[in-house]
Amino acid sequence: MSFKNLGLAPKLLQGIQAMGYHDPTPIQLRSIPPALAGRDLIGSAQTGTGKTAAFALPTLQRLERRGGLRCLVLEPTRELAAQVDTAFRNIGRFTDLRVTALFGGVGYGNQRKALQQGVDIVVATPGRLEDHLQQRTMHLRDIEVLILDEVDRMLDIGFLPVVKRLVAQCPKNRQTLFFSATVPPEIADFANFALRNPARVEIGLTRSVTSTVTHGVYRIEQGRKFDLLQALLGTIDFQSVIVFSRTKHGADKIAKKLRAANHTVAVLHSNRSQNQRIEALAGFKSGKYEVMVATDIAARGIDIAGVSHVINHDIPEHPEDYVHRIGRTGRAEKVGDAFTLVTPDDFKKLRDIERFIGQKIERLHLAGFTAPPETASPPAAGDGTASRPRHQRPHASSFVNARGKRNRRR
Ligand code: AMP
Repeated sequence: MSFKNLGLAPKLLQGIQAMGYHDPTPIQLRSIPPALAGRDLIGSAQTGTGKTAAFALPTLQRLERRGGLRCLVLEPTRELAAQVDTAFRNIGRFTDLRVTALFGGVGYGNQRKALQQGVDIVVATPGRLEDHLQQRTMHLRDIEVLILDEVDRMLDIGFLPVVKRLVAQCPKNRQTLFFSATVPPEIADFANFALRNPARVEIGLTRSVTSTVTHGVYRIEQGRKFDLLQALLGTIDFQSVIVFSRTKHGADKIAKKLRAANHTVAVLHSNRSQNQRIEALAGFKSGKYEVMVATDIAARGIDIAGVSHVINHDIPEHPEDYVHRIGRTGRAEKVGDAFTLVTPDDFKKLRDIERFIGQKIERLHLAGFTAPPETASPPAAGDGTASRPRHQRPHASSFVNARGKRNRRR
C-alpha cells in the first residue's frame, strides 16, 4: 500500500516525497489509519522503524492549519526532543503549522519567545515543560493530541510521576498516542490511565535485534578491554562507530585514550553541557568525529544515518538496552555490525541478553587476544533461544563484514 492510499492530505504527501520516503513502513501502515480516525493508540515497535512519522503524519493532518497549541509530544531526552521537533518540521514543511522544542540545559528566552509568537505543536522533555507551565508561559487546556513517546525510557529515568501530572493537565477528550518498546506492569497501569479504548499496534518482537545488524561478542580479560577496542578499531572497516560505556567517567576515559591513539572522538553523556551534547552529535553526524563514546543516553531512538559499527566496551546493564544500543546501526534498511566486549564477570549478563533476544550471540576472536573460557553453560535449547547464530562469521583474521567487504587492517 502507498502513502496515497492511507488518506493523507496532499501537503503531507508532498512532505513525504521531499523526505524521500516511497512506501510506508509497517508501523506507519498500521498506525496511521486508526490515528487518522481519531482513535487512541498504543504502539510498540523497534526504534528505527519510522515510528516518528507514524505519529507525526496523522497529527499534522488533524491540526491542519494554525490554531494555537493543540499537540504536545513528550520525549525522555533532549536529543530525542530535538530530533522529533526536526522530524515534525520536515514532514510538515508544506503546512503552515508551527513546531517548537522545549528542553532543559539551555536558556528560557528563545523558548518563551517561540511560545509568545504562537505554536501549534510542542515537543518537550517533562521537566522543562513543567517549568514553563509553572511560570504560566503556556497551558495545556487546548491540547487535542497528546503523544507519549518512549514511555519505558521515561519510567527508567524516573519521569513517570511528572508525566502523569502533565497528562492530568490535558483535556480528557483528547487523542493520545502512546509508544513504548516494552510494556512492564507499571507502564500497563499508566496506559490504562492515559488511554481510552486504544488500537494496539505491535510491530515484530520488541526483543528482536534489527535484522540489518550482525552482532557478536569478544570475550576478554578486564585489563585488556581497551587494547581489544583499539585493535578492533584498527581491524574493522568503519565509517563511524559508537562506543558504549557503562559510566560517564568511563566514557571520558575511553575518549581520552582513543584521542591519544589519533582517533577523532566525540563524547555524549548527561554530565556534558547541552551545547557540548549538541556539538558532539552534530560533529559525529557530519563526520568531524569518527567515533562517538556514549552512555545509554544515546542508545534510545537517536537517529544517525551511516553508523557502521556499534561497540559495547561495557556490556549493557539491562538486556533491552542491548537491543537499543545495537539498533543505532543498521538503521533505515542500511546494514551494520555490533560487537560487545565481555569479561568473565559479564557472562551472566550475556546469558540474560541471549535469553531476552531468544538467540545465541556468536563468539568472535581477534588474533593476539585470548578468550577466557566461559564457565557456566550457555542457555539451554528449548527456552526459546536459537542455538545457531544467524550470521556465521569466520575467524577475524579473514573476517568479512556485513556489507561483504573484506575488513582490512588499517
Ligand atoms: P524513526 O524510527 O522514526 O526514528 O525513523 C528512523 C528513520 O527512518 C528516520 O531516518 C526516518 O527519516 C526514516 N523513515 C521513516 N519513515 C520512512 C519511510 N516510510 N521510508 C523510508 N525511510 C523512512
